[in-house]
Amino acid sequence: MRYISTRATGTPPSEPKRFCEILLEGLAPDGGLYLPETYPQVDSATLSRWRGLPYADLAFEILSLFVDDIPADDLRALCRKTYTEEVFGTAAIVPLTRLEDGLYLQALSNGPTLAFKDMAMQLLGNLFEYELARRGEELNIFGATSGDTGSAAEYAMRGKKGVRVFMTSPDGRMSPFQQAQMFSLLDDNIYNIAITGVFDDCQDLVKAVSGDLDFKRKYKIGTVNSINWARLMAQVVYYFAGYLQSTKTNDERVSFTVPSGNFGNVCAGHVARMMGLPIAQLVVATNENDVLDEFFRTGVYRVRGTADTHETSSPSMDISKASNFERFVFDLLGRDGARTADLFGSQVPRQGRFDLGADPAFAQAASRYGFASGKSTHQDRLATIRQTWEKYGVVVDTHTADGLKVAQEHRQTGVPMLVLETALPIKFAATIVEALGREPERPAKFAGIEALPKKVSVMAPDVQAIKNLIAQACD
Ligand SMILES: *Cc1c(COP(=O)(O)O)cnc(C)c1O
Repeated sequence: MRYISTRATGTPPSEPKRFCEILLEGLAPDGGLYLPETYPQVDSATLSRWRGLPYADLAFEILSLFVDDIPADDLRALCRKTYTEEVFGTAAIVPLTRLEDGLYLQALSNGPTLAFKDMAMQLLGNLFEYELARRGEELNIFGATSGDTGSAAEYAMRGKKGVRVFMTSPDGRMSPFQQAQMFSLLDDNIYNIAITGVFDDCQDLVKAVSGDLDFKRKYKIGTVNSINWARLMAQVVYYFAGYLQSTKTNDERVSFTVPSGNFGNVCAGHVARMMGLPIAQLVVATNENDVLDEFFRTGVYRVRGTADTHETSSPSMDISKASNFERFVFDLLGRDGARTADLFGSQVPRQGRFDLGADPAFAQAASRYGFASGKSTHQDRLATIRQTWEKYGVVVDTHTADGLKVAQEHRQTGVPMLVLETALPIKFAATIVEALGREPERPAKFAGIEALPKKVSVMAPDVQAIKNLIAQACD
């Protein structure tokens, strides 16, 4: 298996890479995103063989199709070390809850930080440690977070050899629960940095530090953002797990609704479908930041400015552009790297948008690739949280509520709809209180975390000061 960039030109595209070469990388050198040269195909006999496999072994089977430069025994061991009942709370790892006939929640948020990002990040932590040891290298992850990504990264990398995490977040802007989750990590290799500013200030710092190529090389600066291929690959596994749990034979099809921001999660669903998993529809659910819903309705992809990016009660989907979307557009355009480069490398930076509405390829997004979409607002969210509680006795978080709301608009008779639950309600307690008039349940292991000792440095958004901090930690 080799990987190419979505902006690669020429046949065959220049310099395909192997998995471990792109594992620690973000963007391809040409600014594109990595994708496998072809999608491995899973036939019906294989799918049947996978029925009943424990999650870790299913993960191994699927990852083996994408990774050929880690010995099989090592890869299996990494999967078994990652996907344990101890870390993810149940033996099923991603259990289904039946709400009613044909409507299910698939739990992806029982990992250490109670959001689905743990599903991929926990694997990434083990893969990074393995590969860095093999190379005898170190890596300093430097990132910005407004909540879920940073804590998932820190919980995945804590105590890992060869890795340090420097995570900036806007001072005082995360929920008290999220702050407690991150800042109570006292591990030597975890550095929490609260920046006196907003999230954009944090992102600018990351850009400035990563843009200094000498510094980046000297201090081995890397990222773990959602465009990393290994994260996407790890997410493919739970689409198979959801399908296998909700069907008895491979003649059945199911649909998924996915609360979406950067298009990472649902892009993994697209990859699963391209591999032959019998998925009818992939329904993209957005909040008020409806960049993706607009595209799937009209063919227009329009990046939002800061003033147009809303702060919502499903904050992990508050995006101005969808970083992984380029991967799907590359496939939609018949894997035309030159056109993809023109759209994302030229039209988007210059005009902030492109329009495929009149392109015959656009109609295929629904007909050939199964995509549908919808949008949910704060009022929809509150209503869905209330209805789900009253009708099914289940409390869902705000992002999952967006998914459920949109899922209802796309259900088809005879096709089970699986809504991906992307976080637990305790992470977004204020909105649950607003909807239900009471606090959501808190898993026992998080009792009293707000009172734990905290390790965090508060700093001004000063590039040199941040560089000094990283340099000092490395000496
Ligand atoms: C990150 C996140 C999302 C959005 O996922 P994408 O892969 O960016 O589309 C949705 N819900 C929660 C709770 C998240 O943390």
